[in-house]
Amino acid sequence: MNSQQDDTILIRGGRVLDPASGRDEICDVFIRNGVVTEIGTASDAVECAIEIDATGCLVTPGLVDPHVHLREPGGEHKETIATGTASAVQGGFTTVCCMPNTTPTIDSRNTMDFIRLRAAETAACRVFIVAAATIGRSGEEIAPIASLVEAGAVGISDDGDVVADSQMMLNVLRTCAQVDRVFMQHAQDPALTRGASMNSGPVASKLGLIGWPKLAEEVIVERDVRMLAQTGGRYHVQHVSSAGTVEILRRAQAQGLAASGEASPHHLLLTDEACDGYDTSAKMNPPLRTTDDVEALRAAVADGTLSVLATDHAPHTENEKDSDFEAAPFGIVGLDCALGLYAKALIETGHIDWPRLIALLTIEPARLVDLDDRGIGRLDVGLPADITVIDPAMTWTIDPDEFASKGRNTPFTGVEVTGRATMTIVDGSIAHQLDGTFTM
Ligand SMILES: [Zn+2]
Repeated sequence: MNSQQDDTILIRGGRVLDPASGRDEICDVFIRNGVVTEIGTASDAVECAIEIDATGCLVTPGLVDPHVHLREPGGEHKETIATGTASAVQGGFTTVCCMPNTTPTIDSRNTMDFIRLRAAETAACRVFIVAAATIGRSGEEIAPIASLVEAGAVGISDDGDVVADSQMMLNVLRTCAQVDRVFMQHAQDPALTRGASMNSGPVASKLGLIGWPKLAEEVIVERDVRMLAQTGGRYHVQHVSSAGTVEILRRAQAQGLAASGEASPHHLLLTDEACDGYDTSAKMNPPLRTTDDVEALRAAVADGTLSVLATDHAPHTENEKDSDFEAAPFGIVGLDCALGLYAKALIETGHIDWPRLIALLTIEPARLVDLDDRGIGRLDVGLPADITVIDPAMTWTIDPDEFASKGRNTPFTGVEVTGRATMTIVDGSIAHQLDGTFTM
């Protein structure tokens, strides 16, 4: 066998979806030396090092998650670039964008260099960096945004915290517009959320917990889109939780502003009832809301107001989560099980179909962070072979013990979902294969 054959993979007979080009057909995908070299009908005689029978499966561009927390540097007891990206490929993701709330903050080229080095040494998938808007994410001094973008930052955000100061926010938006990178807002008015740990409402009252009003998100987004109308540029709301935020984004988009938003699996499926019994696995930021909000978010995904899905993968240790509700950290892990949860929230409820779900997980986030022109989020001849094979009919039960993430913090333990990544190919190499699939 020659070396060319060693580097060849043939994926036969799957439903090949590429939302960027509109391709949706049963055919074969041929990969050589890391690149997709042919999409069509392979002859039976063609010899390949690896041949995969994808009958009944979807063959899609590798999934892209524009919002994850890999915790390295500084939080390696929660997650590392190695374990976070192992979790990503197990869930079908070939590209993740890591948030800057590490220790130190990603607000310098040095820290970016460190992450890139660690990713080159240990990552199972592609890692791109969202750098901080302000030094130390403190909101007091603007970060060297132009320099960070020049060094490869694909987005700018103080995620974990809002950019609260209005003058600072104007400066950040203007700078992002100048360098043509998206600003991503963690929309939370700190004055309205002091001491709050869950959604304002009857459940919080019953539990005796300080409520976190939807207004805390909405007033920030309202302010920001009014600023955006003056500054130009691109603005993106992370982990939208409130129906009111959807309304504001819809209006901004109708005005022609480049304002977008993302939805996360938990906000598309759960309400604040999940916090009952002081269940810390349901404690997140922003908090779980109400049935009306869940419905509004699903409708917003269906009509395109929300064009991106993001897990906000936020690993914590069991010790950290195993404490009082008010003391426990916010967040849940997402990468291992997101795909089945998205399908449950959006496809099984009739809001969208598989091709649209794949768009929300590939070309849409790739465009958001300017990775589409590098071939990310697309599956086509001549592009790097980042490919996810999905069995849309496979029903399985979410078990945190099977997660590749160090984090086990999820409110979805024992939940049955349908749709699972069975193989993840990154840059032409098989990065994950589900046990018991594809005897080769
Ligand atoms: Zn956030």
